[in-house]
Amino acid sequence: MPLLIPRRLVARGDSLSFFDFKARIMPMAELPSLTAVERARYEWQMWLPHLGEVGQQKLKAASVLISRIGGVGGTVASYLAAAGIGKLVLAHGGKIQPSDLNRQLLMTTPRLGTLRVDSARERLGELNPHVEVVTLAEHVSEDNVVGLVAQADFIVDAAPRFGERFLLNRESVRQGKPMVECAMYEFDAQLTTFIPGQTGCLACLLPESPPHWKREFPVIGAVPGIVGAMAALEVIKLVTGCAAPLAGTMLWMSLATMDFQKVPLLRRKDCAVCGCAVGRN
Ligand SMILES: [Zn+2]
Repeated sequence: MPLLIPRRLVARGDSLSFFDFKARIMPMAELPSLTAVERARYEWQMWLPHLGEVGQQKLKAASVLISRIGGVGGTVASYLAAAGIGKLVLAHGGKIQPSDLNRQLLMTTPRLGTLRVDSARERLGELNPHVEVVTLAEHVSEDNVVGLVAQADFIVDAAPRFGERFLLNRESVRQGKPMVECAMYEFDAQLTTFIPGQTGCLACLLPESPPHWKREFPVIGAVPGIVGAMAALEVIKLVTGCAAPLAGTMLWMSLATMDFQKVPLLRRKDCAVCGCAVGRN
């Protein structure tokens, strides 16, 4: 999986204001109630400050699209399912390969050779049967991206190919849906959240695919696991408003040295996807 941007290309400038998460709070009257079984399941996380039962109801009401459910996206899906997200929409093509198993924890040895999304749906169902899991055994493409994004309130981009990332970015901006962007390579990982109308987008950072990117990459499972768990927390913050997400800021993690750095990101007015030139401000 590629890092989003080489360090030398990080846009530096004035930090954008944090996402006003209160604006995303859903009307109380529309929130689904919790059953006694659900209250028992989520009891310990409802003790969190600013989450509580209302936050849990918001999680139950929310839907999240995850593009690819490998080392990063599969971890996002696991933690969102465990947290009681209402619906997961998972897009990932192909069948389980032996080389997936060092990091893709939704895939198992007995299911080698079967569809990845089928394994993921089964594992997530075992973890939390209260979560609706919708799957598509395809990668994000021009043909399916509009419909996929339309099915979810929030987007998580965990694809290894920039073509898929750019499609998802374009459509999340068009449909006005926040997108958590996560990436890793070797021991480095990056995480940010794009909020249409409030922050820049992926194309602000990276107008074109970087050259020389290869599909295969060095990875030990704990690294995508870390950034995936953090991405799940970004979604939980967006949904519940329990804390501020990384809007307008990229968290850069060097897990070899355990150095963590937050870098402000610029929104480009001339961005072809989210800039003023396309009628957004
Ligand atoms: Zn942009």
